[in-house]
Amino acid sequence: MPKTFSPKKRLFIKGIIATCLLSVTRIGFAVAMAKIIAVRIWPSSTYTRITLESTIRLNYKSALLYNPDRIVIDIDNIDLTPTLKTISSKVLSHDPFIKLISVNKVNPKIIRIMIVLKQGVEPNTFTLSPIAEFKHRLVMDLYPTRSISINDDDPLLALLEEYKDGDLNKKQANIPPPINKKKNAPIIVMLDPGHGGEDPGAIGYNKTKEKDIVLQIARRAYNLLKKENNIKVHMTRNEDVFIPLKVRVAKARSLHADLFVSIHADAFTNRSVRGSTVFALSTRGASSSAASYLAQTQNKADQIGGVSRSGDKYLDNTILDLVQKTTLSNGALLGSAILNRMKGINKLHKPTIEKAGFAVLKAPDIPSVLVETAFISNVVEEKKLKTASFQNQVSKAIVDGIKDYLKKRKN
Ligand SMILES: [Zn+2]
Repeated sequence: MPKTFSPKKRLFIKGIIATCLLSVTRIGFAVAMAKIIAVRIWPSSTYTRITLESTIRLNYKSALLYNPDRIVIDIDNIDLTPTLKTISSKVLSHDPFIKLISVNKVNPKIIRIMIVLKQGVEPNTFTLSPIAEFKHRLVMDLYPTRSISINDDDPLLALLEEYKDGDLNKKQANIPPPINKKKNAPIIVMLDPGHGGEDPGAIGYNKTKEKDIVLQIARRAYNLLKKENNIKVHMTRNEDVFIPLKVRVAKARSLHADLFVSIHADAFTNRSVRGSTVFALSTRGASSSAASYLAQTQNKADQIGGVSRSGDKYLDNTILDLVQKTTLSNGALLGSAILNRMKGINKLHKPTIEKAGFAVLKAPDIPSVLVETAFISNVVEEKKLKTASFQNQVSKAIVDGIKDYLKKRKN
């Protein structure tokens, strides 16, 4: 926020003489106005995210006000451009948290954004440095206040809160390893459509977004699995929402999943590369350079989607150290079973499963695989991925693979 110089003008002038460097910095700030490049709002049933993308890091102050519930954000050194003004029209009527947003000039240098709320929220505001296609971002996540009861069937909100507070690892360590299930207990499958919200995943030549395609495939697989006796199925997300990688794994563990299937359609540096691939976790590095490239790009999803620093501070490999041998071998078995079904519907990129250190595969007690259904970077496969018929084939191959695996897994 700009400092008020007038009451102590003399002192200020003295200050300038004394510290040249500081005065240069001040002039520098006055010249370099931040420009808003894009405004995005991602409403979801769990939380709503507001993102302001800008040419330089935004200097802001925010306050939560009551009666009525609202949030005021004052941003220093920006202009009220048409792009920024679009924020008001981006509020959707079904947004669970935001009623309306107004934006006004407070003085020549300060813009005030007023968010009028539908319910009490706990905001989490943070800035992100440029990554991938994104420039600087100011992010505000609106969570419902804790008084709202948490749904047992979907622990996502509780897990996101733990993640935000940096408590996720500690709490996850307290989840006991899966007890020997009763003979007829249903098998719990967690489907994980990759990316979402602020993180679009890979984008095809014709602008198809990976996050949309994989959600459609996961929903189709969900509907098939729901019809199976003795299988219970969950999804890490069923909306266009950003969920950190660790929270996806945590949700599977909290719901005592027996297996975890992450669904993707990534891009490769070379557009001619095509075919399906299935990955299982490697604790010792990747099985090929392509596998290592994909794992690296996937593990960046948290930075692209944007996590606040508190949640980020435990991005280490502690859980990986606990990965058990049976989990790894069952993961490989599950991967082979799915790959075997995939070869009936698409060219395979590699004849056997690949291995790499994907963050999303690191649950210590859940056999986990990542299915690259096809490459969205390949124009032919991008086209195919958009069709209902290919999506149905892929989801059926995944479900049949799961069923094959259940017949041969080791306990
Ligand atoms: Zn992906």
